[in-house]
Amino acid sequence: MAYVYDPSNIFARILRGEIPNNTVLETDHTLAFRDIAPQAPDHVLVIPKGPYVTFDHFINEAPEAEIVDFYRTAGQVCKVLGIEPGHGGAGFRAITNSGENGVQEVPHFHLHILAGRNLGRMLG
Ligand code: 5GP
Repeated sequence: MAYVYDPSNIFARILRGEIPNNTVLETDHTLAFRDIAPQAPDHVLVIPKGPYVTFDHFINEAPEAEIVDFYRTAGQVCKVLGIEPGHGGAGFRAITNSGENGVQEVPHFHLHILAGRNLGRMLG
């Protein structure tokens, strides 16, 4: 089944400049901005500029250059926030919700980066 992208979703509107955002980083292929309802002192959303619905859509169909740019930008966000455990930061959680059981609300693939407090265990 083909992925169907809804161009009226809120992140598409942010990318078109119809809704303001608090940008952390931007490249040709990727935008990182602060979540409007932060679940931690630092809560940044990283999104590709292309029309990808879910993680699997992005990773299976995006050109390699866009995928590399996306994850490198996510890495840069961690650097900008000073949260990299390998560089003295206190660490972070990076998560993606996909589809119905993942309880994904916005149907434009995104990575949440959460930091600034102990996030507790999610699994087991
Ligand atoms: P999901 O549940 O799809 O993984 O996460 C969607 C995220 O988008 C939520 O954390 C929510 O707070 C955030 N969000 C929803 N609408 C907006 C908005 O208009 N601006 C920003 N910056 N974040 C939003």
